[in-house]
Amino acid sequence: MDGIRVGKRVVGTQSPVTIGWDNIPKVEGGTFKRLFFTLFQPAVLFGMIAFWYYAPNSIAKASTAIGIGIGFRVILQILELTNPRHKSWQITWKELATDLFYVGVSATLVNLAENYIGSDVAIEAIQKGMDLEKFAWFTSLPLLVQAVLILFIFDFGQYWMHRGMHNWYPLWLPHSVHHYITQLNVHKGAVGNPVELFLIGLGIGGLFDFLPRAFLLAGAIGMSVGAYQHINVRFNTPRWWRFMFNTTEHHSLHHSQDFESTRSNYANTFILIDRMFGTCIDGEAELLGMEGGRRMSIREQMLYPFTEGWKAWKERATRARFFDDAPSAVPAE
Ligand SMILES: [Zn+2]
Ligand SMILES: [Zn+2]
Repeated sequence: MDGIRVGKRVVGTQSPVTIGWDNIPKVEGGTFKRLFFTLFQPAVLFGMIAFWYYAPNSIAKASTAIGIGIGFRVILQILELTNPRHKSWQITWKELATDLFYVGVSATLVNLAENYIGSDVAIEAIQKGMDLEKFAWFTSLPLLVQAVLILFIFDFGQYWMHRGMHNWYPLWLPHSVHHYITQLNVHKGAVGNPVELFLIGLGIGGLFDFLPRAFLLAGAIGMSVGAYQHINVRFNTPRWWRFMFNTTEHHSLHHSQDFESTRSNYANTFILIDRMFGTCIDGEAELLGMEGGRRMSIREQMLYPFTEGWKAWKERATRARFFDDAPSAVPAE
C-alpha cells in the first residue's frame, strides 16, 4: 500500500507543496494593506504581552483571557472573510457549521474538566503540593522569562505527543480525523475526534481563575502565535517570527496531501523545537487532506478511530492465524 502511495508521489501528477520561503507569494496591494499584514501579528503579540504585564490584579484572571480569546477569533474571522488566502479554502456555511459544532464540543469538554478538576479539593491539593519556596528560583525570574519557559515546556510536551501520534498507530487513529480537514480556517484547530482533545488536554492542563500571571502571559503568547496555524489569511510574516514560531505556511505543509511533508512541523508554538529535532520544513501547501481530500461527515469523524481501529485489529488477528507465525506478523506493542 505504502509503495503505491510513494510511487504516485514520485510520478507527481500534481505538485502539491511549495518548499522554501522565496517561492511563497507576498500580500499584494497598497502601502497600507501591505503594512497592515506585515505588522498585524507582531503588534497583537506585543500588545498582549504589554496587557498582561500591566493589567491590575482585579482583571488579570482567566475569565479575561477567555474574553480576549473570543474577541481575537472574531477579528480573525473577519480578516478571513475580507482577505482570503486561497479561494479554495473559503469558508462555506457547511464548513462553518461543522467547525462551530467542534468549538462547542471542546468548550463543553473543557468546562466539564474544569468543573471536575477545578473543585475545591483540587485547589487544596495544589496549594498543599506546591511548596512555594522550591519555586523561588523560578518566580524570581523576570515575568516574561517565566512565561516563555512555561510555554516552551508545554510546547515540548505537545511536540512529542503530536510526533507520537504520527508514528504510533493507536495514537494516530484519534489524530487522523484532524488530518481529514481539506482547508484551513480560524476554528479548524477544534475539528477532530474528541478522544484527541483528551490526549492533547493531558499536555495542557486546566484553566483556573487563580492562575498565576506568568501562566496567563504564557497563554496569551501561545494564543497570539498559535491562532495562525489554521487560518485562511495571508500575512507577510516577519523573518524572525517564522524562524521562531509556527505559521500557517508550516501547518499547511503538515496538513498537505504529500506524505513526507505531513511528517514535519509538529510544534504548536515554537517551530524552533522542530528545527532542534530536524523535523522542520519551511514552505506551504494548498491541497490538503487525506485520500485525495475526501471530506468526512461529523458522524464519521466521531466513529472513525473506533471503526478503523477495529478493522485493523481484525485484519491483524486474521493474518496472524493465517500465517501461524504470530511473532513476526504481530508487531510488538
Ligand atoms: Zn498532525
Ligand atoms: Zn492542524
